[in-house]
Amino acid sequence: MKISSLTISQIQAGLAAKEYSAVELAQQALDFAAAENPKTNAYLRFSPERALAAARAVDEKLARGEAAGSLAGVPIAVKDVIVTQGIHTTCASKLLEEYIPPYDATAITRLEREGAVILGKANCDEFAMGSSNENSAFGPVRNPVALDRVPGGSSGGSAAVVAQGTAVVSLGSDTGGSIRQPASFCGIVGVTPTYGRVSRYGLVAFASSLDHIGPFARNVEDSATVLKAMAGHDDCDATSAAAPVPDYHALLDGNVKGMRVGLPKEYFAGLDSESGTLILQAAEQLKKLGCEIVDISLPTTEQAIACYYVICTAEASSNLARYDGVRYTKRSPNSGTLSDMYCNTRGEGFGRECKRRIMLGTYVLSHGYYESYYLQAQKVRALIARDFTRAFTEVDAIVGPVSPFPAFKLGEKTADPLQMYLSDIYTITGSLAGIPCLSVPCGNTSEGLPVGLQILTKHFDETTMFRLAHAYERSRA
Ligand code: GLN
Repeated sequence: MKISSLTISQIQAGLAAKEYSAVELAQQALDFAAAENPKTNAYLRFSPERALAAARAVDEKLARGEAAGSLAGVPIAVKDVIVTQGIHTTCASKLLEEYIPPYDATAITRLEREGAVILGKANCDEFAMGSSNENSAFGPVRNPVALDRVPGGSSGGSAAVVAQGTAVVSLGSDTGGSIRQPASFCGIVGVTPTYGRVSRYGLVAFASSLDHIGPFARNVEDSATVLKAMAGHDDCDATSAAAPVPDYHALLDGNVKGMRVGLPKEYFAGLDSESGTLILQAAEQLKKLGCEIVDISLPTTEQAIACYYVICTAEASSNLARYDGVRYTKRSPNSGTLSDMYCNTRGEGFGRECKRRIMLGTYVLSHGYYESYYLQAQKVRALIARDFTRAFTEVDAIVGPVSPFPAFKLGEKTADPLQMYLSDIYTITGSLAGIPCLSVPCGNTSEGLPVGLQILTKHFDETTMFRLAHAYERSRA
């Protein structure tokens, strides 16, 4: 068994043929991940006891001849903003360095019910704020494809472990691009489902109206299997949708003939030329598969960054107010009065980017500014969503780039937060509209850096998104 390139179906076959047991697989995966991790810093923590217990349960079921689940024995990593009972969940923040959650996120419970084996927690930007994973309090993650470059963010660790082969699949979170952009930078598949498709119960909130949990995988099939396993209504999350969850994997038939695919002209402004060439080649390839390529326009794209950074900071300032030194967090030892305790705990605990967003968010929500910033941004958000609704009356799917450029060098953009924010231009629109979107690899630049093709579809139409991505992926193999 070559642990670094295994897929879910290979694991199922390997277990069925008794080539290895789930415990053997888990142990090998843990050993391999521990040995490789110093190169990337992608894992913050391993959870061997929980992994081996889950693997033993799979072996026992198989020995009794029972079905062990669609993810039986599959080694998985979890972004450290998703809570895991009894396992530290730090959000890559000094503030939560010692936090051990008393419960599991719904996504975790569902994956384990299907036999998944959680190897450990993946590094990320602090509270998922960032595009490069350089905002982690526990050091940046290096891109396994080019170690002097960032893996993208904020789910950089989750993307890196799958690209490096130290997990078969992983979970990330996406608020404005944090799954698709790292997937694109690391050359793997990353999926942001429809808002409400996967329960957010147990996902530490950044911007609640935009937060999603989604999978990373080495191919489209595996990402579809993981999404299916965790999607669906959850009583613990009032925003989780009741819509039925199709068996995405079973619907991957490779046939996309006659599908109408839109190419938005606004997604080519400011795009690096090599990435642009690869995206156009991908569109050509889709044409060969029988798709009809249609030029479309999403005119409000230009307003998306400003809109997003008002809404996400406003929601973040409110969500992060709970870290006050009374609950969850490490309390500052320099606590005189109550107010000193709040200020010092937050001042010492939060990193620079979190502080920047708390201040911005507090400002846009404050009396006298609320109407001109926050309310205005909500209106722009509605227009962005309307652009997509209109476009989907003409096309079944939209394709375009994920990021204006491929993985950049560590340190290259840290001095200029605005430059970093601008890198989210093509991913933020889909997030604001709450529609499903993914990144699938579409080639490498002359320097060997991966580029992702973004595919976006209508609310709850993950099936079309997966079918198109799968047919495209197969045609390149
Ligand atoms: N890069 C974006 C930000 O910093 C997106 C982050 C995310 O999706 N969690 O807000």
